Amino acid sequence: MEDCIFCKIIKGEIPSTKVYEDEEILAFKDINPVAPVHILVIPKKHINSLAEIEAEDEILIGKIYTIINKIAIQEGIIDKGFRVVVNCGEDGGQEVKHLHFHLLGGKKLGIKICI
Ligand code: 5GP
Ligand code: ZN
Repeated sequence: MEDCIFCKIIKGEIPSTKVYEDEEILAFKDINPVAPVHILVIPKKHINSLAEIEAEDEILIGKIYTIINKIAIQEGIIDKGFRVVVNCGEDGGQEVKHLHFHLLGGKKLGIKICI
């Protein structure tokens, strides 16, 4: 996806502070953090949103959660806890149309579910 910000970050065309990378997954610090730890975990495969994952993506999505735990250990928040948020579509408030998982932590987080 040529005009996708996160694909550009994957390709190194836009700089980011990477915290994890392998052949399928990239994690980097959110540019506008809302918590002391705010990391975006993304598949390198361009998927528009959670609404567009397919059966062939099931292993990849499962792996993302394993990596999230690995990053939570790395960031020192595994024991105190953290939150994972996926915004999907217009009503879900998704701004960047490349599937991403927000890993939030490092403080006692506020409202659990925003309606
Ligand atoms: P969404 O609202 O789509 O769930 O979240 C998109 C997130 O991407 C936002 O938290 C925003 O701060 C972050 N973001 C947008 N552009 C960039 C960028 O160029 N670099 C980084 N590191 N984060 C970005
Ligand atoms: Zn993309």
